[in-house]
Amino acid sequence: LLPTIFVITPTYARLVQKADLTRLSQTFLHVPQLHWIVVEDCPHKTQLVTDLLVKSGLTYTHLHMPTSKDRKLQEGDPSWLKPRGVEQRNEGLRWLREDRRAQPGGDDQQGVVYFADDDNTYSLQIFEEMRSTQRVSVWPVGLVGGMKYERPVVEGGKVVRFHTGWRPSRPFPMDMAGFAVSLKLVLTNPEACFDGEAPMGFLESSFLQGLVTMDELEPKADNCSKVLVWHTRTEKPKMKREEALQAQGMGSDPGVEV
Ligand code: UDP
Ligand code: MN
Repeated sequence: LLPTIFVITPTYARLVQKADLTRLSQTFLHVPQLHWIVVEDCPHKTQLVTDLLVKSGLTYTHLHMPTSKDRKLQEGDPSWLKPRGVEQRNEGLRWLREDRRAQPGGDDQQGVVYFADDDNTYSLQIFEEMRSTQRVSVWPVGLVGGMKYERPVVEGGKVVRFHTGWRPSRPFPMDMAGFAVSLKLVLTNPEACFDGEAPMGFLESSFLQGLVTMDELEPKADNCSKVLVWHTRTEKPKMKREEALQAQGMGSDPGVEV
């Protein structure tokens, strides 16, 4: 039996949410033995996400955890000001630990944990690369950090440093999309989580620091020479005409889900 890949996805309500989640869910449909953990940044589960998951054909768990008010990015704040999706990823980890430890095998279970934001682009191959993760596996991420790609640099089969445009001295200067962790490591380190108060750029490090050393990282994607995941971002749609029509009482039917 293939090790299950548990994918934790934070998501929040916005105009492109259904489009992003549709694209993501249809990618995951092509991945065998995948369990999608969707964590809504909301005080309750929404109908839109509930319906999408029911119809998705995927194995999933639907959770919610609102970002506390002082952590939430406000309209007009620059996007780098506060890390996004932190409390949601931690809620996904909490659920995994609670649910999985109650399963046969306890802490000693095969499986892989991956954090997949809802707007990135994932090749199917990256899931087969990460499936053999023993502790923490790593690979390049395209279109991130103001670079064509960031990646771990591999020499003699080991990660020796990181190719990144900014503060390469961070413990793990990698994007969320560039690593996966074994379920066993997540279960046997119950305190490991993302620190929303970590300085900018240190979120990934806050989780990985206690789990693994650079020397132990398992390079995937042909010794980190292939880009198989991209940090794409969905453009915010313009609503100028919608608003103009709304002002005349002729806006789009709010009963039509977009
Ligand atoms: N996210 C969230 N709440 C927010 C903003 C973002 O749950 O208030 C989620 C979002 O859906 C995504 C992840 O957190 O899955 C990362 O956010 P985003 O893609 O906006 O970050 P960036 O692309 O700028 O790194
Ligand atoms: Mn994103």
